[in-house]
Amino acid sequence: MSAVTIATGPLAAARRIVVKIGSSLLVDPESGELQVGWLDALAHDVAELRRAGVEVVIVSSGAVALGRHGLGLGHGVLKLEESQAAASVGQVWLAHTYREALARRGLETAQILLTLGDSEQRRRYLNARNTLKTLLGLGAVPVVNENDTVATSEIRYGDNDRLAARVVQMVSADRLVLLSDVEGLFSADPALSPDARFIPLVERITDAIEAMATGVRTPTGSGGMVTKIAAARIATAAGCDVIIASGRRPRPLQALADGARHTRFQAEATPRAARKQWIAGSLELRGAVVVDDGAVSALGRGNSLLAAGLVAVEGDFQRGDAVAIRDARGNTVAQGLVAYSSAEAQQLRGLRSEEFGQVLGYIGRDELVHRDDMVVFGHKEQQ
Ligand code: GLU
Repeated sequence: MSAVTIATGPLAAARRIVVKIGSSLLVDPESGELQVGWLDALAHDVAELRRAGVEVVIVSSGAVALGRHGLGLGHGVLKLEESQAAASVGQVWLAHTYREALARRGLETAQILLTLGDSEQRRRYLNARNTLKTLLGLGAVPVVNENDTVATSEIRYGDNDRLAARVVQMVSADRLVLLSDVEGLFSADPALSPDARFIPLVERITDAIEAMATGVRTPTGSGGMVTKIAAARIATAAGCDVIIASGRRPRPLQALADGARHTRFQAEATPRAARKQWIAGSLELRGAVVVDDGAVSALGRGNSLLAAGLVAVEGDFQRGDAVAIRDARGNTVAQGLVAYSSAEAQQLRGLRSEEFGQVLGYIGRDELVHRDDMVVFGHKEQQ
């Protein structure tokens, strides 16, 4: 199969794909055995995508389903501490198997375990995002799961569909593929209604669409169609197309490219535009940085804000907070997420990034506000 073929069909023109793998595909519900052959074929798809220049993040379930078998916990409902214990056992196994399968294709595997707080609190969110982006830049394949061992019921996502949608937001992915044992969205549960219609395209998630999802569940994982639609809502709002497809075939991503049936939820905006909307709209500003005219025109040309153009710092802010960027006359020219605290920014005033390490005692980002983290007013964003 040629390298380019896989990035066609619903994966055409994708630059960054998040693929979510449901437990039911990875773990045999009866024997509790890991489907190593299937996973190996998936790794083949991932390698093909990488060769076609597409970055891939895997969000994988299966830790609890695998671990419960290893620990002899049977098939019944698990207590919280049992599923936490099972997750810690299964996760090692999962990570090991991904590593083996991807390493055979010359790819490095990175394990990322996230809790809800990592996507809800901005500073932790930024940390997780930077790590994920760094890994992708270095050519590694992040394999993400919820950190089930420390996540209790109040502070967990609970299902990897929504976790995958949060990862989409973090990395500004443009495609989310939810692979499970369902082929896509039907107008009713196909197991119960023989005349259920298949829905190939959802342009907007309406109440009628939500209603179609109610009550459709898969036996092994925690999600069902309801969590898939919830995930689609989050991801499409972040500018990402969402594809629900069956993983019940070898090389499920290649199968999609070859025309396998699936439901596509259309993105609402481009990822970059959605992120910029979030930065422009919904954040409380914690302070301001005043910059010189050279910096103002650099921002207008689409560049990041550097400390060299910083004139003054106002307010008390932390790294990751939203701040206004003002010119010397007091006009707000932009706003964005700042990479340093107000105290640090004071120290960095007028410095070049090579000098940051000496002043701060650590090596941080070169930019005070990176252009991806900033909206410049009156400047048309390129999408
Ligand atoms: N995080 C869980 C696990 O790895 C799976 C959650 C889900 O099935 O969506 O076992």
